[in-house]
Order: sequence, then structure tokens, then C-alpha cells
Amino acid sequence: MSDRLYDDNLYRFDTPQASYWEATAGDTAVNATTLTGHESCDVAIIGGGYTGLSAALHLARDYNIDVRLLEAGHIGWGASGRNGGFCTMGGTGVGRRELVKMVGLEKAREFCQSQVDAVELVREIGANEGVEYQTFGSAELDVAHTKRAFRGLKDDHELLTTKLGISAEIFTADECRERFFDSTEQYGALLTRPTFGLHPLRYCLGLANAAIRRGAALHERSEVLAWQKSDDGSHLISTAGGTLKAGKVIFSTNGFMPENLRPEFHARTLPVISAIIVTRPLTADEKAAHAWITEHPSINSRRILNYFRLLPDNRFMFGGRGNSTGHPKAEQETYVRLEAMLKKIWPGWAGVEVEYRWHGLIAMTGSLVPSIGCLDADDSVYFGYGYHGNGVNTATWTGKQLADWIGSGRMPALPQIVQGMGRKYPLARHRLKYLRAGIALSSWLDRRG
Ligand SMILES: Cc1cc2nc3c(=O)[nH]c(=O)nc-3n(C[C@H](O)[C@H](O)[C@H](O)COP(=O)(O)OP(=O)(O)OC[C@H]3O[C@@H](n4cnc5c(N)ncnc54)[C@H](O)[C@@H]3O)c2cc1C
Repeated sequence: MSDRLYDDNLYRFDTPQASYWEATAGDTAVNATTLTGHESCDVAIIGGGYTGLSAALHLARDYNIDVRLLEAGHIGWGASGRNGGFCTMGGTGVGRRELVKMVGLEKAREFCQSQVDAVELVREIGANEGVEYQTFGSAELDVAHTKRAFRGLKDDHELLTTKLGISAEIFTADECRERFFDSTEQYGALLTRPTFGLHPLRYCLGLANAAIRRGAALHERSEVLAWQKSDDGSHLISTAGGTLKAGKVIFSTNGFMPENLRPEFHARTLPVISAIIVTRPLTADEKAAHAWITEHPSINSRRILNYFRLLPDNRFMFGGRGNSTGHPKAEQETYVRLEAMLKKIWPGWAGVEVEYRWHGLIAMTGSLVPSIGCLDADDSVYFGYGYHGNGVNTATWTGKQLADWIGSGRMPALPQIVQGMGRKYPLARHRLKYLRAGIALSSWLDRRG
């Protein structure tokens, strides 16, 4: 059974993505070793992104539990080291109005509150653990790309502020131009809080160093190749260099999930490629050409949305859908497409060169909400995944929930909609076909306006 949907190019754990974040992370030293020989611990964590690192930090710090984490690449190799750095609310594969229709107002509100808590948790970790993650911006802008989309944002504003308890403001196109920026696709915007931008790799490495300081052991370049259960009930996890025996396991590999390690995780996620380009620093005149004065991370209202933000050194970051194969040629085509879109939306930047390009995997689930829990058939295996491209806060928060669950022996008060594994994808081998069909339909709806 092949466990990977995309080209091998996406799973080269020994090669860092040449991202802007890798180039600007500063001191990347993390006191992590490669697993060798035979080790044991109370809790083993597979996957060294925000989910796994947050779980390690909270287990070691709040419960004094002997925890070891195994990461296939270097710490932060996965999406946590190469995302857009939006610490925003989201986490689902549907908009908020659809979410309310799907699960009802009460459950949607409960989930939204957890998203607010999750943003605040990232802030608290920054402050309490001394993690310098270069905060930038203090709200998220959702920018209407058509007049019709602006009407939708007004409905969102009403729902968020009157029913979901989220702080939000609505701005007309003129107000948006005066206070934030202008573009060829700017028909007004919705601003939501709490939200901020950060340097995702610095945050990831800071989280790792905090976990180590609090007593967790981190192993990088330690890909888990096999995972068995011993007769005595313990887990035996093998890498190329060693084995780890553990009483409990947290499985936190999200979009890069190896599906062959345990049958329960087969076909639980649909990994989707997201890609980013970053320009050279914009000059003052170039910023003025589009009245750009905001630091807030922003998205547009397309179904296949773009996310963008000015970076602290005046570079412009623009991200969006990747390709659906992972082949190097398709990857290059994605960057060309993204650059063309950027320059169509902001024609004043037609001459601005792009200097960084990279991509990575996010994870969707069949239920379109995150999946958090422990296995029905084995309550010593915990998991958290499926943040739908919104993991800076959600993955951090999930890691803490799993740590609290294990540390206290009781399931924390999770929103009902994220509990458990959710739906499995039927016809699992054809998942990329669903994805392509979904992209084609959404692109058509976006073109229709
Ligand atoms: C291009 C891009 C832009 C994004 N932008 C944003 C954004 O702006 N804001 C936001 O909130 N979210 C964003 N996301 C999503 C966010 O990055 C993820 O939701 C989050 O990082 C998930 O964290 P994680 O720890 O669960 O998974 P990851 O960070 O992906 O970590 C999983 C780790 O598991 C490891 N692994 C896999 N197999 C094995 C194995 N067999 N043994 C050991 N380790 C293994 C991988 O190497 C990987 O490092 C973006 C994602 C991408 C790709």
C-alpha cells in the first residue's frame, strides 16, 4: 500500500525548503539529537511541528512527564517552518456561515471560542517562554474581490459580531483604501481580531527550545519507519538509527502523515499543497502606488483564496493554492501562476522581482474540521491533525489539549465538532481526483464572481 499521494519531491526530509523564513530565521540552533540505540520514555511524539512541539512543551512543563519527540527532518522541516505566519482564526474547510449551517450555532460558537483561545495561547507562549517570533500586524483583513463578495462579508460581519462572539469591523472600499491598501480587486474588507502575523520558523524553533528547556528530549533526522505494539502494551517505535519504547504515543504529522504506520490513520486526511512567493523589498514609491500602509495579514474572498502580507523588511508575501501532483515542473508552474496573479491584482508592482518561492502540505479532513482525540481501539494513541491551512494557532492549541489530556488523565473540554477521527475518505486512492474536481468547481465559481 503506497502511503503517499504526491511526488517524492515533497517528502525529502533531508532537504530544507529554501524559504524566506529559512533565510531569515537567525540563530537556528536547537539542541536536538538523532535517535540512536534503545531509549524509552512515557510519551513519544511523532512529528516535530507546532502540534508535536506544543504537546512536548506542555507535557514536560505542566506535568513533568518524560517525553521524547521524533522528527523526520530538522525541527520545523514541515509546514510549521514554512507557512505564511498568519496567527489567525480559522481551522475549518468551510466559511463561518457554512459552518453554522453544517453544525448549528452552538457548536460553531464553541469552536470559534477555541480559535480565539488558540490565538491567545500563541501570544502567551511568546510571552511566558520568551519566544521572539517577530510579531507584525494586529488583525486579519478579509478583502472582498468582487462587489458580491463584499455583500457576503457584511453577512459574515453580522454573524461574527452578533452570534459568534468574534470582534470584527467592516470597511467600505474607500475606507479600506484610506486605512489599509488598494488593488484592482478591492471592494471593501472585514477586519477580525485577535490575529497577528509572526515569523513561523522562529516561532517553531522557539517552541522547540522552550520544550527542551522544560525537560523534553527532541530527536531530529529521526524518521519513524515502523511502529509496533509489544505484548506488555508498550509501543515500540523504530527509526533507522534506534528504537524508542513508550507507554503512550502522540501522532502529529498532519499534511505529511505517513499512512502506513497504523491502519487507523489511513485515508483520514487529504493533504493539499499550498505555495508562497516573496518579492524583493518594495520601495516607498511602490508601496504608495497601492496606498499600502497596513501590517495586517490579509486574505481575499475567493473560494480558492490567496493570503498575503507585507513583511517587516517591506517584502511582499503572496500565497495560494499549489498544484495537485507535487512534480517539480508543476511546482514551477505554480510560482509563475502566483506571480501573474499578484501582478494582476497590484499592477504597480509589475516590475518587482520575486526572490523566494516554496511550498508545503496542509491537511484537510473528510469532516472539514480538525480531528483531535485518542483511538477508540487503543487509548494510548493520541492524535491531532486537519487544520485546513490554519495551524499556527490551531496546531499549538491542539498540542496543549493532548498534553492536558494525557497529563490529567481526562479528556479536556474540546469543542464537540473536533472530537475524534471524523470521516474517512472513501476511495482513498482517488483523493487527488476529488481535489482536482473541487479546485475546478471552485475556480469556476470564483471566475463567475
Ligand atoms: C505554504 C503553507 C502556508 C501556510 N500558511 C499558514 C498560515 O499563514 N497560518 C496558519 O495558521 N497556518 C498556515 N499553514 C498551515 C500550518 O503551517 C499547519 O497547519 C501547521 O504547521 C501544522 O502543524 P503540525 O505540527 O500539525 O504539522 P507539520 O508542521 O507539518 O509537522 C509535521 C511533521 O511530521 C514530520 N513527519 C512526517 N512523517 C514522519 C515520520 N515518519 N517520522 C517522524 N516525523 C515525521 C514531518 O517531517 C513534519 O515536520 C500553512 C501551510 C503551508 C504548507
